[in-house]
Parts: sequence; C-alpha cells; structure tokens
Amino acid sequence: MNRYRHRSNWRSLSSISFSSLSRSFSSSFSRLYHPQQEQKLRNSNNERKKSGVYGLVGLHAPKDFERLAADVIDRVNDIISDIKGKQEKKVLRKHRSNTTVAAGVVEERIATWGEKNIVHQLDEISDTICAVVDVAELCRNTHPDREFVQAAERTYLKLQNFVQTLNGNVDLYQSLVDAKIEEDESQTEELRRVAQTLRQDFERGGIHLTDEKRKRLEVHSDDALRHGFQFQQNLIDPRQIRHVELKKREELEAIPTWIHSGSKKGNQTLIPADQNTMNSILRACDNREVRRQMYEAGNSSPEGNRLALSNLIKSRNDAAEILGFPSHADFMTASMLSKTPNGAKVFLRDLSSQVRDIAEGEFKMLEKLQKQNASGGREEKIRGWDVLHLMRQMRAKDDYPDINTVAQYFPLDGVLKGMNEFFGKVLGVEIAVDSLIPGESWCGEAIKKLRVTVPGTDTEGIIYLDLIPRQGKFPHAAHFVIRCGHRQKSGGTRQTASVALVCNFAAKSFSRETLLTHQELETFLHEFGHAMHSVLSDTEFQHLSGTRGAMDYVEVPSHVFEYFAWDANALHFLGRHYQTGEAIPAALLRKLKQSKRAFAAMDLQQQIVYALLDLELHSNQIDVENSSEISKLASEIQSEHSFIPSEPGTSWELRFGHTVGYGSSYYSYLYAKCLSAKIWQQEFTNDKIGQGGCTILRDKMLKYGGSRDPAHILENVLGPNTLEKSFDGGVYPNSSHLLKEFDLAK
Ligand SMILES: [Zn+2]
Repeated sequence: MNRYRHRSNWRSLSSISFSSLSRSFSSSFSRLYHPQQEQKLRNSNNERKKSGVYGLVGLHAPKDFERLAADVIDRVNDIISDIKGKQEKKVLRKHRSNTTVAAGVVEERIATWGEKNIVHQLDEISDTICAVVDVAELCRNTHPDREFVQAAERTYLKLQNFVQTLNGNVDLYQSLVDAKIEEDESQTEELRRVAQTLRQDFERGGIHLTDEKRKRLEVHSDDALRHGFQFQQNLIDPRQIRHVELKKREELEAIPTWIHSGSKKGNQTLIPADQNTMNSILRACDNREVRRQMYEAGNSSPEGNRLALSNLIKSRNDAAEILGFPSHADFMTASMLSKTPNGAKVFLRDLSSQVRDIAEGEFKMLEKLQKQNASGGREEKIRGWDVLHLMRQMRAKDDYPDINTVAQYFPLDGVLKGMNEFFGKVLGVEIAVDSLIPGESWCGEAIKKLRVTVPGTDTEGIIYLDLIPRQGKFPHAAHFVIRCGHRQKSGGTRQTASVALVCNFAAKSFSRETLLTHQELETFLHEFGHAMHSVLSDTEFQHLSGTRGAMDYVEVPSHVFEYFAWDANALHFLGRHYQTGEAIPAALLRKLKQSKRAFAAMDLQQQIVYALLDLELHSNQIDVENSSEISKLASEIQSEHSFIPSEPGTSWELRFGHTVGYGSSYYSYLYAKCLSAKIWQQEFTNDKIGQGGCTILRDKMLKYGGSRDPAHILENVLGPNTLEKSFDGGVYPNSSHLLKEFDLAK
C-alpha cells in the first residue's frame, strides 16, 4: 500500500503513485521479458535522432545529465528574466499613467497580456524542470548501470535545490498575485485553478509571511522531514528491531524452516520481529506461546519511534499553525476533495458503524474456530496474536483456489495482448506495441513501449513497461510520470504524455512464461489506470495534467481499473490459460471472489482504524509530546472500531510507516474504494462492457486530469447525491455502493 508523492511547491514534481493496498512484492531478480510477437511501427529518422534514454532528448550517457540540468536552469532563468522585465515595464507604465489618460490605456493592455502569461510562464518553468527531474527520479530507481543512477541522483538533488530557490522567489510569487487571475471570472476554470494551486504551492513555503514566521516555518518543516526520515530508518534498522529467543525444541519446530535457519547465532536462535517475519509466524505458527512473544516484540518496537513520532507530529502541527491552520490535518485536507478533516472523519465513523455487524459475524466465526482449537474445551478468548492464524485456518478449510492454478490464466504476454482489444472497447483507445528507438531503453529488451491513441483525436501517449524484477531495481509497483501531456497553447500543439509502469513480476517455478498471480494482475491494472489518467488527460497546462490532483481523488480511476481483474467480461480478454487459451472458468472466478470477500469487513475495519489514527494524530487534539497519549489514542481507536483486540503494553503505531508518507491522507484509499464502487456499478455492470461504449470514464473523468474541481467531476459522472457534506463543509462519498460490493449492505 505504498504510495508516495513528492511534496514540493512545484506541484509534485514527480507524480509518482505507488500501488494500492496490501500488495505483495516480489523479490526474485532472475528473469527478463522476451515477447513472442511485436507489432513494429516505423519510426522516422527524425524521431531516431531526437531520442535518448527514457525518451529524453539528449540523454545518452550518465554525463549528459549534468548538461541537461544546466540547460534547464538556463532556460528557467531566461523565463524569469522575461517575467521580471514585464514587471518593470508595468511599473514604468503605471508611473506614466499618472500623467496621461492614454498611457493608462496602454498600461492596462500590457498588464492584461502579462497577467495571462504569468501562469503560462510559471507552467513552462515547471514543465522545463520536470522534463529532466522526473527522468532523473525514474532513472535512479530503475537504471541497471550504477553510473547512471549516481548521475541521476546528483541531478535530482541539484534540481530540487534549484526548485527551492524558485519557491522563495518573491518576484515570481508577486507577479502571480498581482495578476489576480483566481477571481477573474472571465478566465477559464482551468486557468484559475492552475493560478490558485500555484499560489497555494508558493504559500506552503511561507513566501507570503514575515521573515520571522518564514524562518520558523522552515525550521519546523525541516524538522518534520528529519523526524519522518528517522521514523522510516528505525523501521529497517536491525538494531532497533527486537528479537525473540526460542529455546525449546517444540518452539523451534513450530516456525517455518526459512525463518528458523536464518536466525541461528551460534547456539542461540534469535528471531527478528520485523514486519515480514512477524506476520509469517503469526499466520503459520501453531505454537501460541511463540506467536504471543513475536506479537509483543513486533508491536512494541522500534522503541526509537516513540520520540520520532512525537516530534514528527509536533513539527507538522507547528508548521501548519504558522500557515494559519488549526492543525496539519486541516492544512492537508484544505486542498483535497474532503476539504476538512472532519469530512473524512465523519465518513470513516459512518462506514465503521455500517460494517460493524458484518465484521462481528466474521469475528464470531473465528471465535467458534478458536473454541474448537482450545484443548479440553477450555474457553479461550481471541488475542491479538491469534487473529491471522485463525484466518489462515478458516481460509484453508474453505478450499479457496490455489494461487498457482489461478496464475495459469494470466500469462503476462497474454494480458498485454488482450489489453488492446479490451481497452479499445472500454475506453475507445488503441494500444499498440511500439518499437523502441535505439538508445531509448534503459534495460535492453526488458523494456517494452506501448503507444496509446484515441482515434479521431490528437490525444496520444507513451507507456513504457518495466515489469520484470532485477537486482537494484525499485522493488514495488508504481506509475512514474516521465512527461506530462498537455496542450501547449489553447488549441495549439500538444506535448505527448509519457509514463513508465514499474512492477516486479517474477517467473513462477513451474513455467518458463511469466504468469501473474491474480493479485499481481489487480496491481498491474491499478497502475495501468494511473497511466491512462496521465495519457488521456487533455489539459491546457501541465501543472494539473493527469494524476496531478488531490490524492483523495486521483486514486479513484485506478481503483475502477482494479475491478477489471474480477469481471468475467474483462477477463474474457485479459485472462486466458497460458497453454490452452481457455478463459478462466466461471466456477474458479466465483471461488476467487468468495476468497476475496472472506473477512472483508474485518479488513475494512482495520483500514478505518489506520485512517482514523492518521487523521486524529494530526488534528492537534492530544498532547503528542507525551508518547503514551499517542499509544492511548491508537488503542482507543482500535477498540472502538475493530474486533481485533488491542493488547495492553503494545504500540502498533510505532511500526505504522504510513503516518509519515500520508500525513493525514491515508483515508484517500477508502474514499477511492467508495467512489470507484459507485462508478463500477453504475457504468460498467449489466453487460455494458460486453456491449462496449463505456467511454464515460475517458470523456468525463480522465480527460480533465486535475484541472477541475474533483467534486464537480464526480457529480458530473455519477450524478447528484454522490457526495455528502459534514456540518463544517467537509465533503465525503456516500458509502452504500462499497457496502453493496462487499456484500455488506444491510
Ligand atoms: Zn494508486
């Protein structure tokens, strides 16, 4: 469930979106992708000359990064000089206009011209920097050549520093404010929105504040970064991870061999209570005492995170206060669909009360099993360390489909081939495998390139696929923006969008072909949804192109795409057996759905707990400097909203890393789940896919990128009553469709 976006005044320089909830990540680095067939498209000689690695013109060797960065800085400085020149002219005109009326008219004309252009020019600055910094970001995460990675890292840092100086450039900010575009109703909605977000982005750095306040803001912002980094470091620091020493033979025999053999130190067996090992033991180990020890060790470390978390939240709230917000949660939600923290909290509490009965039913099944397990018919209450183990037992009893059997229906090549026909139907797009220009790929034949077009329009985009694991590569699933698509001038030439999908689909041991597990297919479709948002976005400015919108909105389309992994009509195209070519049998798909729904309400409760803690922690309601207050809050939320018991003396919040990355926006996934459920049920069910013509997603949603108010887009697609309002103006989705989806509706 990693999702990370760069927070920067230049509007998330890299709009990277990691994959959604609970993804499993592959760790094998062995195999490269070899296509059987490829549709070759002819590239003109001209295009060849213009090429470079990642499609960046002029990038052929690591040393090129330095020159490209220098060019960016020169180009941006030219634009800034131009803006300054206009400002000075304007001042001059103003001075003259005091003497003659005619000069006043001239001044007005020049001012209007300058005002309109300031947004275009700031957008151009952003576009110019992103063209290189986004490639540097992708390169340092994916390039197999160490020298490339190092050069990309240097360039990334250099340009980030340059961006910091721009964020503090008062001339730029003042030109934007003076233009008064936001309140000018004669301008387009997009222009006004871009002007507004640009101003807000500047102001996040405190440019509009007094020197004294701005300095304090800088200190708190730097502190927040430092403490957040410390929190994440502690999570992977072996010295901070507690260990459980196992001495008895029956204890040692109860844990999986791979854990056992890797934990021997001389005569001792010390099991590290890191997240991975702990969860494996909690699931698979029949020895309750071992599970208890692991659970307690894992959920009370890293100890260093008590202080890191206190400091992080305190710095964030202090920074928000200087910017005029009551709390960090208020600061964050102000620019989101939710508008206020309360909007999101009302939503979460409401959802919690609606799933409670069903979750209780699920929990009772676990209690029944616990009773059966108990020796001598003793009553045994379910404890924190029993839950995963019982769930696993229940799933095994229910005979859910074998993961490898299902994977046979999703050969990667087959999935990719099916996509053209399928998305042709659903989105009215054409997807063709394009040939790579020499020097464009960063890892030989492992990289594929798709060209997406919309017949009858000039919308076009490129999607690079880097899907197979290799050593040193970014280990999660993510959508990286390489170049934002947008119309450079209204009705003028278009900049083609370009993105990369980075995943790690390992080969299965029984097949030479890469077969996706069902969860991998779902992940891939999720990321592909982000890619289509980038590619099909048709905005004038790059600043709000594609996925550059509020986080509680941009996750919506990608969640709609996840549904395709569960739909027989979609799988008719996307899921064909790697040997027989048969579509996945209806009975197998049904079983798969049943397995997904098992404990869905309890899972949902857990997500609500995480999202609520994330919001409450950042709401400035408790004394965060007292770390026991934080633990108390976590425990209270857990007890109130989940049947999984909160165990005294444990502090799960110490290992909940998403507090750092999301900082009160974790609820976004649950918003996206509700909204995508409604879109799915309304627009894609009742054989609408079979009949084709579901282009509503393309024409009413993806097209706008982040350039419209998300609430308007959603109501335009879904009709009124899609969104609810809290008393303080907070906005949240109606959850009835999600509940229906999970078979939870009362
Ligand atoms: Zn996502």
